[in-house]
Formats: sequence, structure tokens, C-alpha cells
Amino acid sequence: MKSIVVKGGHGGRIEAKRGQLIEITTVEESQVCDLFAFNSDNIREALSPGHTRQVKRHIYLKKGDVLYSNLRRQMFLLIDDPVGVNDLCMSQCDPERYELSYGLKNHRSCRHNLAEAMKDFGIPYEYLPEPVNIFQPTFIQADGTFAAPTQSPAKAGDTVTLRTLMDVIVAVSACPQDQTPLNKHRPSDLRITVRDV
Ligand SMILES: [Zn+2]
Repeated sequence: MKSIVVKGGHGGRIEAKRGQLIEITTVEESQVCDLFAFNSDNIREALSPGHTRQVKRHIYLKKGDVLYSNLRRQMFLLIDDPVGVNDLCMSQCDPERYELSYGLKNHRSCRHNLAEAMKDFGIPYEYLPEPVNIFQPTFIQADGTFAAPTQSPAKAGDTVTLRTLMDVIVAVSACPQDQTPLNKHRPSDLRITVRDV
């Protein structure tokens, strides 16, 4: 078993072998985890919310769902999800989001955290993949618009568990968004654990 604590607003990285379990745990209530993953044997193959939506033909994740890569291969099986609130639609926050929406320069962001966590792999910043946003509520209204962001319903200690279906490098961001209620206006830590079944 191995485990890392990702500081609120920052990112981290951990590796897992096929068949192991990855647990994503909140330390405090209401903290979103932007989840990114790459095939350990081919860094160009990454977790893809778009392919996952297309194969599922659904925009919400539920226990028993498979998460797919950009090569339409199975990466993860969602085996436990006590909150049941995850997002497959939103891109990660980035410096431009904070500057354009809130006038904040050099605010930390999930995209920056991902770039930092994966720095030694040389992935061009523009080609960084999109996230699966664990614990993030996204509600689509009847007219197709997204409802305004609301606070993540995750409680302290809630754990989402994924089984890996290939060897993976996992990068996560404890989303630094503090301008909406999503992370209760104060990003907090996440614990990521890799264990054998
Ligand atoms: Zn974010």
C-alpha cells in the first residue's frame, strides 16, 4: 500500500499497476478532485471524459461504470462511490479562468497543478488532457444550460474507489477554486491511496 496527501490547491502524482485499487479520500468536507491518468507504457494515452461519456451515452458516473482512455480502452472501473456526484463535462480550471472571470492573476489552477505534476514527461501544456472531476456537482437544466456551481456534497473522509484496468500514472489536483462555493471557498487536502485488492 502507498499513499500521498495532496495539499489543498496543489497537485500530486502516484502510480498504480493493473488490478490495484486507487482510493480518493477527502480530508475535509467539500473538496473536488480533478483526476487525470495516463497509460504507464504510453504517455500519449490518457483518461478521456469525452470517450467515457460517448461509450456510456450518459453524462453522470455511477458505481460499476468503466472510464475510458482517448484510445477508447478501459482504464478504470468505478467500484465504490458513496457520494455519487462526479463531473464528466467541465474542463479543469486554468489561469485564464481566474483572470477572465475574477480578475485574478497567477491564481493556482488544476491545469497548472497537472503541468507541475507531469513536468518530467514533457507533455506540451496545450495537449494536457481534460479531467474527470470527482466529488464535483454539475447539473444540466432542461434548456441545456449548466446550473450555477454549488458546494460539493462530499463529507470529510468520503472515498471514491477505482480499480485500475491498465498500469497507470495518476495525477490529481485538489482544485484551488475558491471563488465559487464548490470547495467551500477554502480548498483542502486529499489523500490518494493505492492498494492491492
Ligand atoms: Zn480546479
